[in-house]
Amino acid sequence: MKPLRSVAIFGAVGALVAAVALPAYAATKPADAAPMTVQQLAAVDAQSLVVASEATAAPVDRGSFSATTPDEIAKKKAEEAAAARAAALASAASASSRSFNIGSYALVSPGSGEVRYPLPLGSYRVSRTLGSGHNGADMVSPQGTPIYAATAGVVRVSSESYYGYGVGVVIDGVVGGQRVETTYGHMTYGSRQVQVGQTVAPGQLIGFVGSTGRSTANHLHFEVKVNGGLVEPIGWLAANAG
Ligand SMILES: [Zn+2]
Repeated sequence: MKPLRSVAIFGAVGALVAAVALPAYAATKPADAAPMTVQQLAAVDAQSLVVASEATAAPVDRGSFSATTPDEIAKKKAEEAAAARAAALASAASASSRSFNIGSYALVSPGSGEVRYPLPLGSYRVSRTLGSGHNGADMVSPQGTPIYAATAGVVRVSSESYYGYGVGVVIDGVVGGQRVETTYGHMTYGSRQVQVGQTVAPGQLIGFVGSTGRSTANHLHFEVKVNGGLVEPIGWLAANAG
């Protein structure tokens, strides 16, 4: 009986390893329980924020009530912030095909200028760049890191399954009179914030880092074509982004 049991245990361990290793390669949607719509998330979010602000507000023992004390002003501001957050989440829902809570990330990256870094500075390391059949830069960053449009432009591709890119976005832009096409790959399922045909501003939030498509770890595959020719993205960012 002993050898048989060993085989069974090794089998079970093997299955576990396979189950853990598989999602990195899998091109299918990871199983998630009962996803909520962004509208639902927005509603829950607004609700909880308002409840929290009411719970922490000190009772007011006065005849007349107007928002003049610091506590009252803070409460009013919290309620306004909750409403604005809910509105932002609801509008994002129309651009996203699956539910994804965008959290408290800015809808536009910091910075100014025509070209912006696609990930927040300090949030990534470059593991690989243009060359040897690889068309872009791999920027390794934790899952859920916000991805921003490097240029203004029109969204040509926004797909949950864009070849090996997995969840991908392609933006056609013009920078300094040159055609600049940027591609963003391996985003998290359901995290896209833009639709095909949509016009985006430089630094506009377009999605979140993941490991979809031909990817084995969370990273952004970032590709840049200038006038139709591939350029090395990291040097191009260093020369143009601000
Ligand atoms: Zn890559």
